[in-house]
Amino acid sequence: MYPARQALLAGKALARWTGLGDVEARQMARLRRLVERTWREHAAHARWWAEHGLTPGTRLAARADLLALPVITKQHYQALPEAEAIARDYRGVPLLTDLTSGSTGAPTAIRRTYPEDFTMCAYRLGEHFRYGLSWFGLRVTLNSGVAESLDLPGAKRQNPWMKAGLLRRASVNHVKLGPEGVLRRLRELRPQAVGGHAEAIWRLALEVSEADLRGLRVHHLAMGAQTVTPEMRERVRRAFGCPAYNMYGASEFNLLASECPETGLLHLNEEGLIVEVVREGRAARDGEGGEVVATNLAAEAMPFIRYALNDWAVMGPERCPCGRGVRTLRSVQGRVAEFFHFSGGRKVHPFELINPLLRFVGWMKEYRMVQAERDRVEVWFDVMGEAPEDACGQVAAAVGEKAPAGVVVEAMQRAIPPVPERGKNKMFQALGAE
Ligand SMILES: [Zn+2]
Repeated sequence: MYPARQALLAGKALARWTGLGDVEARQMARLRRLVERTWREHAAHARWWAEHGLTPGTRLAARADLLALPVITKQHYQALPEAEAIARDYRGVPLLTDLTSGSTGAPTAIRRTYPEDFTMCAYRLGEHFRYGLSWFGLRVTLNSGVAESLDLPGAKRQNPWMKAGLLRRASVNHVKLGPEGVLRRLRELRPQAVGGHAEAIWRLALEVSEADLRGLRVHHLAMGAQTVTPEMRERVRRAFGCPAYNMYGASEFNLLASECPETGLLHLNEEGLIVEVVREGRAARDGEGGEVVATNLAAEAMPFIRYALNDWAVMGPERCPCGRGVRTLRSVQGRVAEFFHFSGGRKVHPFELINPLLRFVGWMKEYRMVQAERDRVEVWFDVMGEAPEDACGQVAAAVGEKAPAGVVVEAMQRAIPPVPERGKNKMFQALGAE
């Protein structure tokens, strides 16, 4: 190869890696190709666009032009027969199936090709490398085992690297095993990084001793950004004695954003996605909150173009001060539907109410928080060992301190019903918005 060409390629690779160069122009060129083929090959998507008054020639030159495209939701896909969810030219091609967590009631099947999945996984892996994962390090994902239990095609992922002892991954079903079982499994596996359901990591921090967790010598943790408060993360960091980075992901997109170790902002995945924070129909500015709408530039078989995730995020600076050259989020504040909505439009993240329970870790075995009425929350809990006589009173008082005025908190000591095999490990049951 000619040196000039080599230099050019090296420069391009460097630009991609550092995020310098025109990220937006690259994204928009890929988007135009994706939109063009989606018009041609995905009849349902073309119909949704046409109903919105769009035509195949819609101008897409800058990110701001995205606002012309309608926002697609999970309900759009749920209403389609399975075959119509897949682009015509990908029918008959082997596809992987992933399931969304089903926080809106029904889990949705997400289909993608192996190369598409590889690209998305590679980005996540790259972020783990930045956090210090080594080629030989094992990454363990704590999941609820839903996909495995349904025996979906392609749910068990194999790759040639793993056979060579590189880039090893394993998953642990935390719903089935419970905190003690997960601890035992982690001791056997000795992972370098642990990620997956934030609730599962949180439960470990709550219910397993600091000595046991630190003894695992985990290098770093990856926590789902949308269900973790800063206090929780601090607690998890202390318990494991290692950094816990926010990794904001979703089945439809894999990794959307990941925490900058220097600034604490979340770097958006500008390589494979276009992530927008939409506020009142426009792009949110630095410091403003809005709904997360994302486009997966790699997903052709089942396109996600301006797809609403039902998440709420606060936009960050256009460029991260660390020099990475990507746009950022300041925070992701949780699934919109997961908040406890109280009367008068007041909303509280469940974890804010759960935090006070930390002080009972010595005897509290398990708990569930249920919004029984609009302004009445029940805390069910089960005990182990020596629980104080007025356990109920203590629990109710602790949570009550954090609850908004007028909200009644009742504590009940009782057996906790097992978590359903399907769906998310639910520690809360909220009523949703009024
Ligand atoms: Zn940064």
